[in-house]
Amino acid sequence: MTTTGLSVRMNGVSESATLKLNAAAQALRAKGKEIFNLTAGEPDFAVPEACKDAVRAALDTNKSKYTPTPGILELRELVAQKTNHQCPSLSSPFTAADVVITNGGKQAIYNAMQVLLNPGDEVFYATPYWLSYPEMARLASAKGISIETDFNEGFKLSPAKLESALKSSKNAKMFVINSPSNPSGVMYSKNELADLGKVLEKFPNVWILSDEIYDRVVYKPHVFCSFLDACPSLRDRTVTVNGLSKSAAMTGWRIGWSVANKQVTSAMSTLQGQSTSGICALTQAAGVAALKLPEKNFDAWTEAYTKRREIVLKSLENLQKQGKIKVYPPEGAFYVFVGVGGDSFQFCEQILDREGVALIPGAPFGAEGWIRLSFATDEATLLRGCQKLVNFLSM
Ligand code: PLP
Repeated sequence: MTTTGLSVRMNGVSESATLKLNAAAQALRAKGKEIFNLTAGEPDFAVPEACKDAVRAALDTNKSKYTPTPGILELRELVAQKTNHQCPSLSSPFTAADVVITNGGKQAIYNAMQVLLNPGDEVFYATPYWLSYPEMARLASAKGISIETDFNEGFKLSPAKLESALKSSKNAKMFVINSPSNPSGVMYSKNELADLGKVLEKFPNVWILSDEIYDRVVYKPHVFCSFLDACPSLRDRTVTVNGLSKSAAMTGWRIGWSVANKQVTSAMSTLQGQSTSGICALTQAAGVAALKLPEKNFDAWTEAYTKRREIVLKSLENLQKQGKIKVYPPEGAFYVFVGVGGDSFQFCEQILDREGVALIPGAPFGAEGWIRLSFATDEATLLRGCQKLVNFLSM
């Protein structure tokens, strides 16, 4: 026990920086300040009508009781189908028995770490990384270890760096890959994933957690590739995580999932059964409707993101050419990662205070000196927010 009475488990577990900055922006807005919020980790689009209709129908027919812990069969079947569709090279396709529906992608990652990690185990991921990975590893009494990548290598983890990091560890137990990545927008091609897979084949005790939550937010000419499609031989030690938060703008509906071998799936289902149980029945009905929607339903969103991405890149172009900032043009996801130098928390506090622009500091993503700008917002806010950022940087 700690002096505060809290469990040792909570020692050093940080609050989400994203939520903290958002709260500061909301507080200023409540005081009447004009705020340009570029922090959002969520699409601003409305949830597809079919999902809303599905919830109404589930309500009207009283499909609102407990569901099986891993989720209703129809939803798990659709998830298995989607995964198999994204991984045509798998010789043994997934079925509903390999799927657990979770409270967002977050719970799928949490479940996987809880059932696979022991105290002292090490979890590897490339910098910049999604800020919940180290905290979730800590909650599993394991240790998160970041493998440095930098702007000059396109923030991409090379097979050589991965191999050297895993070789130097006695307790390597998991490797997390997030493509497209939050916060950098980096996406790995099929060949690049296959090369990482060849390294992972040499480390049979290491599990792979592939966080594919941004699979549908991808910019041409880049194409999304699921880790297992590039590395089918690693099927039985890969946990693929995905969900509908980003792909169907359903952040508050909390629909995620894991796809993994049956033994791990069964352990994750047991863990979930003794903690949160199956997710909300109404939400699962909406999840079924979302997964039945044709891909072309989402074309307008991709077009909007593509346009907004251009707005940000264009706004920052001059400062970048002058060498004042570094900008990573994202291949996927809806963030632009900008190298501004110095203390990123201080930068975000100052620009919020002076210009009313809310951004996320890079430090909690393992990238001090960088900030994350989300373009999941309307064009008017984005244009003015970017203009203010440029003014601030030009001072
Ligand atoms: N993984 C990454 C990289 C994310 O950015 C997020 C959400 O921001 C998640 C997982 C979790 O998503 P969800 O809202 O479905 O829990």
